[in-house]
Amino acid sequence: MDLTIKPEYRQFREEVRAFLEANLTPDLREAGRLATSVFHDVERSMAWQKILHKKGWAAPHWPQAYGGTGWDVVQRAIFAEECLMANAPAGIPMGLHMCGPCIIGCGTQEQKDYYLPRILSGEDFWCQGYSEPGAGSDLASLQCSAESDGDDYIINGTKIWTTYAHYANKIFCLVRTNKNCKPQEGITFLLIDMNTPGITVEPIIGLDMIREQNTVFFDNVRVPKANRIGAENAGWTVAKYLLMFERGGQEYAPALHYALNRVKEIAEQEAGSFGGKLSEDAAFMRRVHEVEIEITALEFTENRIKAALGSGQSPGALASMTKILGTEISQKVTELAIEAVGVYGLPLQVDAIQPGANLPFVGPEYALTAMPRYLNTRATTIYGGSNEVQRGIIAKMVLGL
Ligand SMILES: Cc1cc2nc3c(=O)[nH]c(=O)nc-3n(C[C@H](O)[C@H](O)[C@H](O)COP(=O)(O)OP(=O)(O)OC[C@H]3O[C@@H](n4cnc5c(N)ncnc54)[C@H](O)[C@@H]3O)c2cc1C
Repeated sequence: MDLTIKPEYRQFREEVRAFLEANLTPDLREAGRLATSVFHDVERSMAWQKILHKKGWAAPHWPQAYGGTGWDVVQRAIFAEECLMANAPAGIPMGLHMCGPCIIGCGTQEQKDYYLPRILSGEDFWCQGYSEPGAGSDLASLQCSAESDGDDYIINGTKIWTTYAHYANKIFCLVRTNKNCKPQEGITFLLIDMNTPGITVEPIIGLDMIREQNTVFFDNVRVPKANRIGAENAGWTVAKYLLMFERGGQEYAPALHYALNRVKEIAEQEAGSFGGKLSEDAAFMRRVHEVEIEITALEFTENRIKAALGSGQSPGALASMTKILGTEISQKVTELAIEAVGVYGLPLQVDAIQPGANLPFVGPEYALTAMPRYLNTRATTIYGGSNEVQRGIIAKMVLGL
């Protein structure tokens, strides 16, 4: 699919570029440039979301009736690409990409009216409470319980790896409402206010020494039944709906091309092992080009998915394939970046990568983010369904094993 071929798409790209040029302040661009994770600086991500919301562009993938833009799949891809190239801070996905679509697909009118505008405006900040200490890949074995008590549920249990729970004022959770049935048939999907008494949040510090994840404890937390999405014990269907939505829009190739181009730029600056520049080192550059070929192959697969989505089809197992390829190639790109920056990757400079910190740092700016990105990217093959589990899906759905 050639995204540049139609004049109306070229014109659309120009419109997006002009908007970004006019609205992305240096402060916001810095947040995008210094980001070392898919989760960008919260303050600046939310500030950017407010600007997008004002323009009506906060949720391009939502149906227009609920605040979406009405763009087709190509326009959405162009918008994402331009945001990437301009270093716009990325949106926080849990509300816009997970909970919102779920409420649109499975919520009541009352729930849609209340929650969706608050997600678009950024008034509510959501986190995702699925995983538990004993339930990750085997999510259906989750134990966090919801006991019925009149018009409420009483929640007891633990959620773990909850990204950005320390910023969130809302959490969408899968909870167990029936223990005496097939595990999938006793799960309910609940929306919970993080300020409810009985909720405690404790930090998990990542390899990169940055706090992104948390453990969330529920101790006799009272939640109105009106906060349930779908029927009691039908949470698995709601969760699968969310997953389907989540899988449809994921595109890795543009960000990978962008990151690999940064590696090439570093190679132009840094010295090679045998004199000259690293970009003249044939062995290093051969690996760069091998990764480039892999990214280009992935790009074609993602274009096939876009074409399928554009004609109303589901990506099916192709989504598992791109998740595996996208995350594993992203790890390779960060490995090349580490090699390219050499010893400058070694000092731990977490404070200096905070947007607005304006602190002195060791080495060139491009080296600042190399190690934290490398460390953070290790997790991409685990979250969102581990790559081993994705391979299992392909084995079943494609190979029929
Ligand atoms: C950075 C990060 C952010 C996260 N954010 C969130 C969040 O916001 N909300 C949330 O709910 N969860 C979150 N998670 C949790 C994530 O979804 C789980 O870590 C993931 O599902 C794997 O579960 P687990 O950690 O319990 O590992 P396990 O399921 O115990 O897996 C351990 C190992 O066994 C392998 N394995 C398991 N089952 C199979 C199988 N059937 N076939 C082959 N191999 C298998 C896995 O691939 C893995 O290598 C996050 C995780 C990380 C690392």
